[in-house]
Amino acid sequence: MTPIAATANDAPAPAPKRVAVVGGGPAGLMAAEVLAAGRVSVDLFDAMPSVGRKFLLAGKGGLNLTHGEPFERFAERYGARRADIEPLLAAFGPAQLRDWAQGLGIATFVGSSGRVFPADLKAAPLLRAWLHRLRASGVRFHMRHRWLGWMEGDAAGKRLRFATPDGEAAIDADAVVLALGGASWSRLGSDGAWVEPLAARGVSIAPLQPSNCGFHVARPSADGTPATGWTEHFKTRFAGAPLKNVALSLDGEGGAMKQSGEFVVTENGVEGSLVYALSGPARDRIAREGGATLLLDLLPSHTAQQVRAEVARPRGSRSLGTHLKSRLGLSGAKAALLYELLPRSAIDDAAQLGAAIKALPLTLSQTRPIDEAISTAGGVRFESLQPGLMLDALPGVFCAGEMLDWEAPTGGYLLTACLASGVAAGRGARQFLQ
Ligand SMILES: Cc1cc2nc3c(=O)[nH]c(=O)nc-3n(C[C@H](O)[C@H](O)[C@H](O)COP(=O)(O)OP(=O)(O)OC[C@H]3O[C@@H](n4cnc5c(N)ncnc54)[C@H](O)[C@@H]3O)c2cc1C
Repeated sequence: MTPIAATANDAPAPAPKRVAVVGGGPAGLMAAEVLAAGRVSVDLFDAMPSVGRKFLLAGKGGLNLTHGEPFERFAERYGARRADIEPLLAAFGPAQLRDWAQGLGIATFVGSSGRVFPADLKAAPLLRAWLHRLRASGVRFHMRHRWLGWMEGDAAGKRLRFATPDGEAAIDADAVVLALGGASWSRLGSDGAWVEPLAARGVSIAPLQPSNCGFHVARPSADGTPATGWTEHFKTRFAGAPLKNVALSLDGEGGAMKQSGEFVVTENGVEGSLVYALSGPARDRIAREGGATLLLDLLPSHTAQQVRAEVARPRGSRSLGTHLKSRLGLSGAKAALLYELLPRSAIDDAAQLGAAIKALPLTLSQTRPIDEAISTAGGVRFESLQPGLMLDALPGVFCAGEMLDWEAPTGGYLLTACLASGVAAGRGARQFLQ
């Protein structure tokens, strides 16, 4: 049979544009998904042997995907960066996130706290379904590819330099999405090493700092000079002990940020959800003033007057410890903290002791190292990005996820903003290529 001659109309279609997504956390995977849906050729690179390692770790705590509170309240959680994050959430917010999970076959539910979780509280089934869909849509995965920056002489920022198991390689792309995470839990892949190559290209980057982190405490010692960490006695007995049903506020804020919940005593300080909730302002206060004092309410369900009255009640021959336990239910780490942090004179004075039970000063001296933090504050400043999250300094290069300069408390706000910024960067890159 004679082959049919090719006509001008049958000219081969132009090769699809190539996008390199670097970083396979939730932000990078979401950018890849948006790009693959737009008929561009997507290659995703990650330094680790597999993607989504921090996402899987988050699954160990139940995978709090987002929060069910009203949008207005939700957007407030991004504090000073609300104006930058809110437009991203308007395009892909908590409701869209739940629909997206449903589309992967993962039903979600709103817990009693308003937090939203997958029905089985696990990350692995969601990640598995997601990767399956990404591969089916043509995304190619390149593991053990560590991005090192750009090739020498590459002014446009489209020749990426990678360390691979086979040595260094140069990868060309028409557009690039960087979603390299923050600088905590570096053993899962995010080590903040991206700061240097981006800063060298003139990208403005706020210093990376721990967010949702633990702290060291300082306590008054016998001679009046502050000592760091707990006394040996307290540490030995109570490191690891949870303090439940308490409230914390930052001294000097007039109780404005008072939050209830629980936290944990550590070897040298405190950590846990209630401490994380105040970690941003406390960290900034430490930077400004050298320390930050939290006020611990050991009995949020009692008024100050009730506590005072119970403490002042005659106790006969009973010890103070027995009295506090029987009248107010204070025992264990809660009672021990009073002895740890108050001078003897305050313990012996009913009025001072009563006041301290409602507002026990707990001084934080420094944050725990960033590598232990749940998340990272600081990063690529929004002022150096255009609306589609494209870098001013490098047209065609986009950034998404925790590497951007924002922070939020735990409660699903982190993953929501990471996914929303992945959507925005993916759409931005698509538009750029058009
Ligand atoms: C213990 C823990 C529990 C958490 N629980 C929750 C939760 O329940 N809800 C919630 O909202 N958030 C939670 N988070 C936070 C959430 O997991 C992160 O905010 C989110 O994973 C950040 O997504 P990302 O894509 O920006 O970065 P990451 O998930 O950190 O992914 C970045 C990726 O980039 C890769 N990478 C980094 N540098 C390079 C390089 N040079 N070259 C190539 N690849 C590189 C890394 O290997 C990694 O795969 C938790 C965090 C922790 C530590």
